[in-house]
Amino acid sequence: MRNPESGPACTAIATADPRFPKVGRRPGVESHVVHIGDVPFGGKGFAVIAGPCAVESATMIHDAAQRVATLGADVLRGGAFKPRTSPYSFQGLGLDGLSMMREAADAQGIPLVTEVLSPELVEAMDPHVDAFQVGARNMQNMALLQALGETDKPVLLKRNFGATATEWLLAAEHIATAGNDRIILCERGIRSFGDETRFTLDIAGALWAQDRSRLPVIIDPSHAIGLPALIPRAAAATLAAGLDGLIVEVHPTPADALCDGSQALTPDQFDAMMADLETLAARRPLIARENRQP
Ligand code: PEP
Ligand code: MN
Repeated sequence: MRNPESGPACTAIATADPRFPKVGRRPGVESHVVHIGDVPFGGKGFAVIAGPCAVESATMIHDAAQRVATLGADVLRGGAFKPRTSPYSFQGLGLDGLSMMREAADAQGIPLVTEVLSPELVEAMDPHVDAFQVGARNMQNMALLQALGETDKPVLLKRNFGATATEWLLAAEHIATAGNDRIILCERGIRSFGDETRFTLDIAGALWAQDRSRLPVIIDPSHAIGLPALIPRAAAATLAAGLDGLIVEVHPTPADALCDGSQALTPDQFDAMMADLETLAARRPLIARENRQP
């Protein structure tokens, strides 16, 4: 989805932050536009990544890819290697799952992003991915960040749920110093005292990261919130805040999902979310302005 009206609200800052020599915003230097395939993140447009939590079978990932691409997703997501909290949960289909996903994305003509769990896997996965995802649990896996710094593929760097935004930017700095500055930051919720939502969506932390770095910043409302009823409105907040895009979990039949089914949007819910995003600007006029007499 593209919304040419919604460029990031950030303007150039007066002084650079010396802690972030590679990824920090510098006076007079434009924000970095990072492409996944041919999809730009960090320009004027708002990019949407969608797909299931995990690749479950060839049929399922083809179905999911077809549905999200038809409904306007720019990039396909899906995990072939899953970092599960419990060792007894579904761990993903591995490299077989990745080739199923590659075929599904190619059939729809859209690029894919998928999670890499360890430095040893980078080389094997590299020819089959358009972007690598670093999951929240691996944000400070320095060996993995180093290995990704040596590739030329874009890296979607999720923020760990216990990390400050400063630590998140320093993790990005690790990838950049190793040679790769094609980094997209992703806020996916942090731990706080509330347990009503899965995590706490830190929009302010994402805005701070967008302000301090020259990297694109996107939001993952699925993991941050965990409740499908609230995800579309958090997506709208992301667009309204001037952030650069979204990554959202969508499953053809969430009740059958092997992973994170309770937070997945159905294709119909994703369709409605995309329609809302498209009309967001016109949908909510400011009351004060509406009532103001000429
Ligand atoms: C995921 O994207 O499915 C995932 C595991 O995310 P996170 O690393 O943010 O928990
Ligand atoms: Mn998930």
